[in-house]
Amino acid sequence: MSLKVGRLFGVDVRLHYTWFFIFVLLSWSLAWGYLPVGYPGQSDTFYWGVGAVSAAMLFVSVLIHEVAHSVVAQRYKIKVNSITLYFLGGVSETAEEAHTPDAELRMAAAGPLTSVALGVLFYSAFALGGAALPAAVVAVLEYAGYINIVLAAFNLIPAFPMDGGRVLRGIVWGRSKDVLSSTRTVTNISRAISFIFIGLGLLDTIYYSDLSGIWLLFIGLFLSSSAQASMNETRVTQALTGVTVGEMMTKDVKTVEPGLTLQQLQDYALTPTKHHGFPVVKDGELVGLVTDEDVRRVSPELWDERRVEQVMKGMKGLVTVGPGDAAVDALIKMAKAGVGRLPVVEGGKLVGIVTRSDFARVIQERLKFRS
Ligand SMILES: [Zn+2]
Repeated sequence: MSLKVGRLFGVDVRLHYTWFFIFVLLSWSLAWGYLPVGYPGQSDTFYWGVGAVSAAMLFVSVLIHEVAHSVVAQRYKIKVNSITLYFLGGVSETAEEAHTPDAELRMAAAGPLTSVALGVLFYSAFALGGAALPAAVVAVLEYAGYINIVLAAFNLIPAFPMDGGRVLRGIVWGRSKDVLSSTRTVTNISRAISFIFIGLGLLDTIYYSDLSGIWLLFIGLFLSSSAQASMNETRVTQALTGVTVGEMMTKDVKTVEPGLTLQQLQDYALTPTKHHGFPVVKDGELVGLVTDEDVRRVSPELWDERRVEQVMKGMKGLVTVGPGDAAVDALIKMAKAGVGRLPVVEGGKLVGIVTRSDFARVIQERLKFRS
C-alpha cells in the first residue's frame, strides 16, 4: 500500500499510495482556487508551478513532523521501523510503546511543536520578505506557513490516535501512574470529541450544505473508530504483560517428517487433527513448517509424489520465538509475519508452538481475572 522513498536517521520513509492522488488534487485546487484569489493576474505557469511546489511543501512538512517524532522516540531507545506519510500526517511505526508518561508526552508533542516552529518560520519569512522576494516564492512561503499551523492544530486534537490524544494520555498517566486507566480516560474523551465532530458535521451539512460539513463528519467517524481500536490494543497489551511464550505455548506438539508425501500429510495429520499446520522435524531439529495452504497449492493428483520438504517453508524466512520471549513481542511478531502460529525454538530444538488461539485464550482469561 506504500512506496519506499528513502531513509532518514536509520528509518525507512514510505509514501502511502493515496498520497500521489492527494498531491495531484491539491496542486489542482491550489492552481485553480486558492492562488488566483491571493495572487491575481499571474500566468498559468505561475499557478501550476506554485501549486505543485506548495503541495510538495506539504509533503516536506509532514515528513519533518514525523522525523521529529522518530528522533525523540530513538532518544528514549524506542526503535522506529518506518515512517509512512499520508495526507495530513504520517504514521511512525515503532517496535514498542513508550515505557513512561514522560517519554509518551515528549514523543507525541515533538511533532506538533515542530510544525508550529516551521509555521512561525515560514510565516515570518513571508511577512518580512514579502516586498523583496519574487511573488512565486512569497506564495509558497505563505502556504507553507499556513499548512504547518493546520498540521499542528489538526494533530493536536486531544483524541486518539492524534498526537494530542497521546499528549493527553502522557499527562493523565503521569498523574495516575496507571497506563490502563489513563488510556480509558482518554478513550472516553476521544469518543466525546468524535461525537462533537459528527454533530457539528451533521449540523453544517444540514444548514449550509457545503463540503466542510462532510470533512467534520469524516474526521468524527475516523476518531470514533480509532478510539475503540486503541482501547482494545491497550487491553491486549496489558493482559499479556508479564507473560512469557514458555508459559502459554503448547508443549506437546504434533510434528511431521520431511519425507512424508502430501497425501500422507493430508490423511494422517491435517484431516484427523483439523490443525492447519505442523512443524517439520528431522532428528529432533526443526527444519521447517508446513501448512494446509502449502498443500493446497499443489494439485491433488501430485499429492502422492510430492513430499513435505518440497513444499514446506524452510528455516530461512521462518519466524520463530524463544520460550523466554515476552508474549506481547511474540504476538507482534506473529501479526507482522501474517502467520497464525509460531514454532518455539531453544537451541535449534523445537520445544513448543504458540498459535493465535493460544493468545485469544490467555487474553480472555487474564481480562476476566482482572475485571
Ligand atoms: Zn504527529
